[in-house]
Amino acid sequence: MLDVRDVRVRFGDRDVLRDVSLRVDDHEVVALLGPSGIGKSTLLRVVAGLLVPDAGSVWLDGTDLTDVPPHRRRIGLMFQDEQLFPHLDVAANIGFGPRMAGADRASITRRVETLLALVGLEGFGGRRVTTLSGGEAKRVALARALAPEPAVLLLDEPLTGLDRELHDRLAVDLATVLRDTGTAALLVTHDHDEAAVIAHRTEVFTGGTV
Ligand code: ADP
Ligand code: MG
Repeated sequence: MLDVRDVRVRFGDRDVLRDVSLRVDDHEVVALLGPSGIGKSTLLRVVAGLLVPDAGSVWLDGTDLTDVPPHRRRIGLMFQDEQLFPHLDVAANIGFGPRMAGADRASITRRVETLLALVGLEGFGGRRVTTLSGGEAKRVALARALAPEPAVLLLDEPLTGLDRELHDRLAVDLATVLRDTGTAALLVTHDHDEAAVIAHRTEVFTGGTV
């Protein structure tokens, strides 16, 4: 269970997050709905360990993550901009996390095959990521985020910037993948319909400042 306690972030003379608290239970998908600039990405960066908050703490399964570096937090991240590694093929992108964690070659290959099937991209392992369509790149980014089996997946507007039809199809597929893998997730979006399709619960996010 993810437990965000009284997190405060100050940029200059402005509190962007003021005493923000939030919980995500095991297997639960929570959507954070809020306008641009309210502090949603800032909160995800704190949870991921990419930004040290001015106050407050982040706990996972009863452990204080304050001194745990990002790659050891068991927290996955998927951004709007997929940020795939352009010099690696699809399989190497997906296998990146497990490889960094020291997994052996055979288990990485198996894991990549499983994930390619999960996101509907069987046979894509050898493809250069620069040749993928927008939807395919999103699917690869999702598979890569899931590869290290994170306890919680953070999704920062993962489906923004797609045409409506593709967006709606990917939203359903994303919901299915999260359910089938039992992955807890925190989904940041400004799209009510997307939140309704993917999340069990939606919170309107104010950053605690309004
Ligand atoms: P959201 O994701 O909800 O659109 P952000 O978390 O990206 O909002 O940003 C919240 C506010 O904090 C914005 O006003 C943004 O300009 C500001 N901000 C974000 N990162 C920094 C930073 N590193 N330094 C100063 N201000 C920042
Ligand atoms: Mg943002």
